[in-house]
Amino acid sequence: MDAEKLRQYLTFYQDLGFTTLYRRNAIQESDERGDVTPAVETAPENRSTLIVLPSLAPEGDTLERIRADIGDCKRCRLHERRHSIVFGSGNPQARLVFVGEGPGADEDAQGLPFVGRAGQLLTQMIEGTAKREGIPILRRDVYICNVVKCRPPENRTPEPDEMEICGQFLFRQLSAIRPKAICALGATAARALLGRKEGVTRMRGNWFKWRDVPLMVTYHPSYLLRPYNQNAKHEAWDDLKKVLHFVYD
Ligand code: URA
Repeated sequence: MDAEKLRQYLTFYQDLGFTTLYRRNAIQESDERGDVTPAVETAPENRSTLIVLPSLAPEGDTLERIRADIGDCKRCRLHERRHSIVFGSGNPQARLVFVGEGPGADEDAQGLPFVGRAGQLLTQMIEGTAKREGIPILRRDVYICNVVKCRPPENRTPEPDEMEICGQFLFRQLSAIRPKAICALGATAARALLGRKEGVTRMRGNWFKWRDVPLMVTYHPSYLLRPYNQNAKHEAWDDLKKVLHFVYD
């Protein structure tokens, strides 16, 4: 079986909700080309066996291919009430990627991420901070996407299975773009990318890693729009300043 066939099988099982596979008596393999990643844990009775499988991302993956693979997605219940699949927007070679939670009503209507009130604030934050810091970038120079690509009903938080299913496409987007840094907007993005459940207040302002890419967590712009969270705005601006200098200095 070649790597592409195997990828298709694994994607099929992942769509069904299987995230871990066990194989017994596998032969130890090593990857000298470095283009495959360990995707499977060993069974407890077989701990010394290392099983190496190709990454789920096809070689030479591109945003166009990922969008084509998503297709007219019906892999989770979020498809039932969506109007658009909100894939992402911006520069496909961006050095900085922002990841939000999921589309709201405006994004669902327009098919673009962060175009409502929270989006306008995000644009102001990016462009305003960059301008003040003397960094010549606009929103169109970064890439913006979400953990889930379909609007959750009543803007509820995405369920773990929805994040898991759509997360494979987010991971492929990030792997295809290979940014210098990622900025996770809010707790859902932080959870999807880091697997951490702490509150944003504890994580924000610090560097983490998604795979080998530096990742900063900060507040979600919707949180900053609430009148009682105005103090958090200063912190979010500080976080963004750090990210922009790290990426563009
Ligand atoms: N909130 C998000 O998390 N993403 C959007 O695209 C819009 C609002």
